[in-house]
Amino acid sequence: KPERQRKPDWIRVKAPTTKGYGETRKLMRDLKLNTVCEEAACPNIGECWTKKHATVMILGDTCTRACAFCNVKTGMPGRVDADEPAHVAEAAAQMGLEHIVITSVDRDDLPDGGASQFVKVIEELRRNAPQTTIEILTPDFRGKMRAAIEAIAAARPDVYNHNLETVPRLYPTIRPGARYYASLRLLEEVKAHDPSIFTKSGVMLGLGEERLEVHQVMDDMRCADIDFLTMGQYLRPTPKHTEVKEFVTPQAFAAYGAIARAKGFLQVASTPLTRSSYHAGEDFAEMRAA
Ligand code: SF4
Ligand code: SF4
Repeated sequence: KPERQRKPDWIRVKAPTTKGYGETRKLMRDLKLNTVCEEAACPNIGECWTKKHATVMILGDTCTRACAFCNVKTGMPGRVDADEPAHVAEAAAQMGLEHIVITSVDRDDLPDGGASQFVKVIEELRRNAPQTTIEILTPDFRGKMRAAIEAIAAARPDVYNHNLETVPRLYPTIRPGARYYASLRLLEEVKAHDPSIFTKSGVMLGLGEERLEVHQVMDDMRCADIDFLTMGQYLRPTPKHTEVKEFVTPQAFAAYGAIARAKGFLQVASTPLTRSSYHAGEDFAEMRAA
């Protein structure tokens, strides 16, 4: 049986016990919304939910893929919830959110991969929570990419995020259902479609990647005109998932961050606990004010 791996001190996080955490949890339950914060067992949930920042996961809680690092359930997903777009907008309005991150499971079973639900969520948010800036974190829409990009870009999210997750050499084991260059192309095409949409991507470190491979990923991202980059430590959600090959030190994260800034990203977050939605609102507001 695989053993639990001991985490270094810099990974320890506070238990989620605050009033704000409880309120966020209740709202998500009341509106029947799934969050990636819970489904992915994110270590930042105490901090984020206290500040009323959650990443809503639309299109159900069951994914048609099975990435080796991910805690989300795999299987045949259920019907798409027609009330979900309105519920997401209600959550944003009730929480008074300045920024919301919307992601989804992968829905290879749907003819449009779920793109139309992203569009409906964006439209509901614009109507009912007009003060909220919108960041979407989408799947790769394998085989349906062009139509999905056209539909979603036309709805004009503020930030379009899609994570590359790791270096291309590790795709067959870590992200077996996806193609590195297809993911890069998706972001490149979003930007080409509408240059006013900020594009964003991220990688997890500690999966066995080499330093120069990470630098190459940064170069590939800049060639695809990607604006924002996040880098964080991969943490194994359960002993059944792929193991952590290395706990990258905070100093090494800072060094990667400095290199990324030098390569021209508009915004870079690179610490062990960085997740693609961690501090997303604060960072976006800061970038726009600069
Ligand atoms: Fe949720 Fe993102 Fe915060 Fe994690 S970092 S708790 S996924 S909002
Ligand atoms: Fe998890 Fe996304 Fe992979 Fe599905 S496609 S298993 S939600 S990382």
